[in-house]
Amino acid sequence: MSVWAVIVAAGRGERLGLDRPKAFAKLGGRPLLAESLERLDGSGWIDSIVVAAPPDWEEPVILLAEELSCSKVVAAVPGGETRAASVRAALGEVDDDAAVVLVHDAARPLLSEDVIDRLLTTLNEGWDGVLPALAIRETVKRLEGQQVAETVDREQLVVAQTPQAFIWPVLRDAARGDGDATDCAALVEARGGRIKAIAGDPRLVKITDHDDLELVERWL
Ligand code: C5P
Repeated sequence: MSVWAVIVAAGRGERLGLDRPKAFAKLGGRPLLAESLERLDGSGWIDSIVVAAPPDWEEPVILLAEELSCSKVVAAVPGGETRAASVRAALGEVDDDAAVVLVHDAARPLLSEDVIDRLLTTLNEGWDGVLPALAIRETVKRLEGQQVAETVDREQLVVAQTPQAFIWPVLRDAARGDGDATDCAALVEARGGRIKAIAGDPRLVKITDHDDLELVERWL
């Protein structure tokens, strides 16, 4: 069974206000992307890795992979305008005979083998996809303009993280077309796919601003 990993790293990261894309923001003295690259390459589950790079940064991505001796990286392709477009670009490099594809945000550097292990073990139970999710501790309101319209039952809500694991033909079919979605599970859900949520990891925060970078740097 061959397991492929896709790292989407083509976001601009405008909120970091840097002169380079977010994937190359410095975290502990290395590009942010180095963490997910190294951790996926070192995973006993993963056979091959494709990176959706910021456009014109494909070569620096390959050089980084070489520097880190990440031998499982088979391609770096230019990402698209949206996350979904970047995912599609990377999926174009996945072998037809792959069994499972794991899609991960480069913006979530603190990926652990434990999460990968739990995702793939659960996928083997017969789901179309599996994602890590965190419960919501705050009270959640739905707004109409600035006015609170209702209080939403938080017991039924979770925050979805990555990596997300999918049966390859299921994700391949769901990603056809040009529909947009903020995660891959949404594409599979839209076609009636069965996705299981497992316990997420609070350390898998998504880096969006400098405070997140500082927090994750302390955790490293
Ligand atoms: O900004 P967003 O929350 O969608 O970013 C999640 C992940 O998707 C990040 O790792 C980012 O690099 C990636 N992304 C991408 N191509 C885009 C937008 C985001 O690969 N056009």
